[in-house]
Amino acid sequence: MDLVTLPPCSRRLDGGMSPEHHHSVQEDPSVLKISSTFLMSTPIKTEQDILEKSMPEDDPNSNSEVNGVEMKRGPRWGPQHKGAQELANLYSSGKRSQEIICVCLCIGLMILNLYLIVRHFRFERISIVIMAALCGILTADFGSGLVHWAADTWGSVELPIIGKNFLRPFREHHIDPTSITRHDFIETNGDNFMIAIPILGKLAYNFLARTQAEIQQDFAFSAYLFLCSIFVAMTNQIHKWSHTYWGLPKWVILLQDYHIMLPRRHHRIHHVAPHETYFCITTGWLNWPLEKIRFWTCLENIIEYTTGCRPRDDDMKWAEKTQ
Ligand SMILES: [Zn+2]
Ligand SMILES: [Zn+2]
Repeated sequence: MDLVTLPPCSRRLDGGMSPEHHHSVQEDPSVLKISSTFLMSTPIKTEQDILEKSMPEDDPNSNSEVNGVEMKRGPRWGPQHKGAQELANLYSSGKRSQEIICVCLCIGLMILNLYLIVRHFRFERISIVIMAALCGILTADFGSGLVHWAADTWGSVELPIIGKNFLRPFREHHIDPTSITRHDFIETNGDNFMIAIPILGKLAYNFLARTQAEIQQDFAFSAYLFLCSIFVAMTNQIHKWSHTYWGLPKWVILLQDYHIMLPRRHHRIHHVAPHETYFCITTGWLNWPLEKIRFWTCLENIIEYTTGCRPRDDDMKWAEKTQ
């Protein structure tokens, strides 16, 4: 539990936990000593926080038994959590149909756009395509953070239409992070593929309705939109891999190790209660800078001040349904 070995991506500005989620934390003096010596100005979410305030997915058998007291109140995380079971049961056949339609439509549009991009590609534009790819990744990473933050922090499962269909999976994911590893391709990717459909649809329309000169003039932007939509569509699959501790293909582990995809160790920072930071889940590149400028906290303060709504009220309500 050596804090000095933690990567910069593990650092955060506000180490405070809400009292509701501050379950029996025994503070390790050595942890405090190191953090006060080296990281006085930027306290971090420590290995101790991760161990005691999140589900140990690499060792789920020790779930809820950090100090032997938790089991009396019902498991705090995992498939046995009563709230998680209730949320899992709200997955409906109508929702499943929407996901199947979105996945089929999106894959069709991906193939069509790939064909159109390759057909209009000129090799001298390779540097532009690489830049477009980078900007696309960054946009997708930021977009993943924004949507994830909004869904985690605001609204309720009781809200009509969006509650059960789109907020439910976010609530379930916090109290049973391993559920995503049991979801099939459709359930994992349906909603992200849905977000990519309008972008890919507009892109295909542009390719098909414009002249060759217009297409070449806007090619960099088209490449950016294409790659951004691919990363957006792939985000929850990447997120699922960041929760998968067994049987991952070697190439996925390699991309995680080089932080080209969201690494498992990095994403665990988000899964420390009360889930108030590290929302970006495509590559996670923006998590540290956004935390550094207190981006999410500032947004939450503005919204709380103007609307009176408290962040993560619904999330905390579900977390407490242990019995
Ligand atoms: Zn979350
Ligand atoms: Zn997660």
